[in-house]
Amino acid sequence: MTVEQWGIRVPVRQGELTRQALIGEGALDVTLKVLHDGDELVFPVLEEREGATRYEFAEQPGRTELSRHEQVGGIAIMQENDSKGAALILASRPSLHTVLFPTSEVSGKYRTRGYAVLAGMPVTRTEVVEHGHRFVVDLAGAYFSARLSTERQRIFAQVQEHELVLDMFAGVGPFAITLAPRAALVVAVDLNPQAALLMIENIERNRVQNVLPLLADARRLERILPWKFDRIVMNLPLAGTAFLPEAFRLVRPGGTIHFYSLVSAEGEHLDRIRELGGASVTERVVRSYSPGQWHAVYDVVVTG
Ligand code: SAM
Repeated sequence: MTVEQWGIRVPVRQGELTRQALIGEGALDVTLKVLHDGDELVFPVLEEREGATRYEFAEQPGRTELSRHEQVGGIAIMQENDSKGAALILASRPSLHTVLFPTSEVSGKYRTRGYAVLAGMPVTRTEVVEHGHRFVVDLAGAYFSARLSTERQRIFAQVQEHELVLDMFAGVGPFAITLAPRAALVVAVDLNPQAALLMIENIERNRVQNVLPLLADARRLERILPWKFDRIVMNLPLAGTAFLPEAFRLVRPGGTIHFYSLVSAEGEHLDRIRELGGASVTERVVRSYSPGQWHAVYDVVVTG
């Protein structure tokens, strides 16, 4: 069985030194096997750290006692309602304070889910460290996915100095806060009051001074905001299509829209995007979601 975990990629010749350093720090995930990829090795690590990316690792024979789980800051989310397994996970991972089991699917307009506490402190709030940023999240109160950290870095690399950026579905602010250091201003919108409050906490915690949090419905932005944006992030994968016309009205000619969507066929939204004014469109798979469905991102450069 394979498990998704953070991994650090190093050349084979640095492998032994890296392994010893990670063991010394207590950071190596000893329940998983090191990946061999040509001249490089990927070491599984317990938490995100600089240079780490998500990989699929095989479980280590004889170390498979820990049940499958995803780690978000100090919280482990199990796939099974197994309190004995939860206690074992809590005991084996010193950085954890809580083990949860989801009691519902991600649902509703706020894209949240319910959780039962299986072990540890009875909380759904924790702090996630991502590429040097610290995000307070409350898994039951507002959407957050650590799996998009690579996407946030990919878009950050494209932001030019002094851009005006709009995050239409900002959640607790991870895209907005990641993009802020390069942008002139990031307007970060969410409809969920709890997400907006956590976003304000995260803006303060990360000492960014150019993110404008806005509790609003993205459908009304053209009437609220006086600007046209250089770049717009749209991360509402199940329902974002309905907001595309609004995004096209808010982007400046020649600007860029990053549109995330759950798709079941390649090129699913291309016709609609071109019809609205997408001059060049690149479609990429972000990750698989279920058999026959995957999260895709369309990077759209709008007609100049
Ligand atoms: N971008 C964030 C992230 O990566 O963590 C959150 C993305 S989450 C999939 C979608 C967010 O859109 C949720 O926080 C939800 O509350 C918000 N949302 C849903 N409908 C909205 C609307 N009409 N206007 C503004 N925000 C909305």
